Amino acid sequence: MTSVNEEQGKEAEAEGVSNPYVTFCKGCRIIIADSFTFLGFEDNLKMAIFYDKSDEILCGDELNLAKDGIDSGSTFKLLTCSVCKIEIGRIYNSTPQALDTIRDCYAFYNDMIDHYILGPSPEAASKYRYREQIMDTPTAHGLLVHTRKGLRHNTLYVNCMSV
Ligand SMILES: [Zn+2]
Repeated sequence: MTSVNEEQGKEAEAEGVSNPYVTFCKGCRIIIADSFTFLGFEDNLKMAIFYDKSDEILCGDELNLAKDGIDSGSTFKLLTCSVCKIEIGRIYNSTPQALDTIRDCYAFYNDMIDHYILGPSPEAASKYRYREQIMDTPTAHGLLVHTRKGLRHNTLYVNCMSV
């Protein structure tokens, strides 16, 4: 299992790791989004931006006004985890020009989420590649034929023994 925080996520990006990952709520670990809809990190707001979310994330009806910070003057609705009820992010309806790219996207607080990278770790991947080189990986058909031959051989052996 590989769990990464924001910094590790950025390191992985920098190293060209392209395995897909799921993002989950830190409070209850329910999956809230995945890398297929990830747009990037908004460093100044300390948020991870996605253009889609899971059904477990609820969007509030009330429009709020940001009164301080770099999103001051923005209007947004709160995103809440339906399982553990924590406030997990925002969806901005209006933003200053500098934040236009995140408007209408799902912006999750980095502190409230974590990620799980799918697939093998780099160490496991290198071991597996080595194993692939030394093993003749059978196809499903090849495996079936091999198994039947083995069964026939064993049956013959049992018959010989019982005579
Ligand atoms: Zn939750």
